[in-house]
Amino acid sequence: MKNESHETNICPCCGKAYTARPALSRKNGKTLICPDCGIKEALSGLGISLEE
Ligand SMILES: [Zn+2]
Repeated sequence: MKNESHETNICPCCGKAYTARPALSRKNGKTLICPDCGIKEALSGLGISLEE
């Protein structure tokens, strides 16, 4: 059974595999990263840091 709608990507930022829609890194505008890192980059760009 094919599942072409959800490809597995590896996030170069955190190294985790993810199947959600990739986010574009704000650092260079072309690296695809996982949504979690996309949110973190977006927040850090606003001067907000996430506490884990
Ligand atoms: Zn990531």
